[in-house]
Amino acid sequence: MQNHFDVIVVGAGVLGTFHAYHAARLGKKVLLTEKDQYPTQATVRNFGQVVPSGMGSEWFNYGLKGISTYQQIQSEFDVSIRNNGSVYIASDDDELQLIHELKKLMDSRSYEAHLLTTPQCLEKWPTLNNSYCKEALFFPQELSAEPETLIHRLLIYSSQKFPNLTYRPSTTIIDCEVKGDHVVVSSHLKEKFTADHAIICNGGEFKLLFADLFRSSGIIVSKLQMLRTIPMASVPLEGNILTGLTIRRYESFQECPSYASVQTPPHLAELKKWGIHVLFKKAIDGSIIIGDSHEYAEAHKTDDLGFSQSEYINQLMLNEAKRIVTFDVTQIAQSWSGFYPQHNEKDIVEMDIEKRIHIRTAIGGKGMTTSAGYAEESVAKIVNA
Ligand SMILES: Cc1cc2nc3c(=O)[nH]c(=O)nc-3n(C[C@H](O)[C@H](O)[C@H](O)COP(=O)(O)OP(=O)(O)OC[C@H]3O[C@@H](n4cnc5c(N)ncnc54)[C@H](O)[C@@H]3O)c2cc1C
Repeated sequence: MQNHFDVIVVGAGVLGTFHAYHAARLGKKVLLTEKDQYPTQATVRNFGQVVPSGMGSEWFNYGLKGISTYQQIQSEFDVSIRNNGSVYIASDDDELQLIHELKKLMDSRSYEAHLLTTPQCLEKWPTLNNSYCKEALFFPQELSAEPETLIHRLLIYSSQKFPNLTYRPSTTIIDCEVKGDHVVVSSHLKEKFTADHAIICNGGEFKLLFADLFRSSGIIVSKLQMLRTIPMASVPLEGNILTGLTIRRYESFQECPSYASVQTPPHLAELKKWGIHVLFKKAIDGSIIIGDSHEYAEAHKTDDLGFSQSEYINQLMLNEAKRIVTFDVTQIAQSWSGFYPQHNEKDIVEMDIEKRIHIRTAIGGKGMTTSAGYAEESVAKIVNA
């Protein structure tokens, strides 16, 4: 019985960790396993922007829940959450129109949003380029996290807070099957654990478990290129800084009436081709994260995406960044690739096997914002079914 749990969660990225956290909050005996020494995938390679304002309507609510969950945890334990807001900077008439429409939509949801004039923006973020910034839409309540810190502290916090939650890193799950009235989960160390339910939050790992299901799932994996400057403490760029190409991309803007008629101007065509939209996030050490781009492969062909960075894509991003800000974006200290799975027709992939194994993956580019809120609902459905 020692190795029997109410819930076993496979994968300690942000989605798996919040499934474990919410199951433990419900008083369940939980085992959370992670194959690596510590999480090393999308959850630690991202911007750490918590931006419900960018989500489509259903996921907007998960984002709101995410904000309150992060704030509640931060009030008890420092998991690196900061409240500096998010701003979308419009650079032309189409983008202006879209931020005005989003403001209306957010007003109808009673979600605080402020339109800022160019002088107001320059006062708040003096290194924005006067010629780029036409107007902006600011969400003061939004948060950011340090992605390389958050998950590790969240795991410490959750393990300390809930004696009923056991976290096992360096434990790769290689088999998971329903036997009678429970699930048997086997690790690479030949350990066996049993549970009433197993929740598989495997991120972009599709070779170890249920490879045949993933092959036909329609999941695609996106590779993103990211850059980080040297620490620039004197550059005032607090909060989540999102720009024109983001306005032309994020789901919340796709719900605006003008979105369908917005054309891509020629000077943005090459950037669009590589899925580039330029975002900035200043980290606690003063360095500024700049990204990102998107290249795609089917779930069973992700090796084709490679691990190296395209210098051409990095230069495209930096050239666009130079149009947006006046500080020296070429002082790059680090660059990396991040990968996340997504599905073009679903906001997340949910597959259930014999009512006891529950696959939850491909949350796409919104996992840092929405995992806490989505996982709360997902766990409740699973354990109460
Ligand atoms: C460059 C980049 C920028 C992004 N920026 C943002 C942002 O600003 N805001 C936002 O909301 N979202 C952002 N995202 C998206 C966000 O990072 C992801 O949605 C989120 O991290 C996905 O979490 P996950 O837990 O599903 O996956 P992962 O982080 O990949 O975690 C899955 C975990 O499962 C483990 N695992 C897999 N198989 C097994 C197994 N068999 N046994 C044990 N362990 C296993 C893996 O080792 C891994 O640690 C970004 C993503 C990237 C790549």
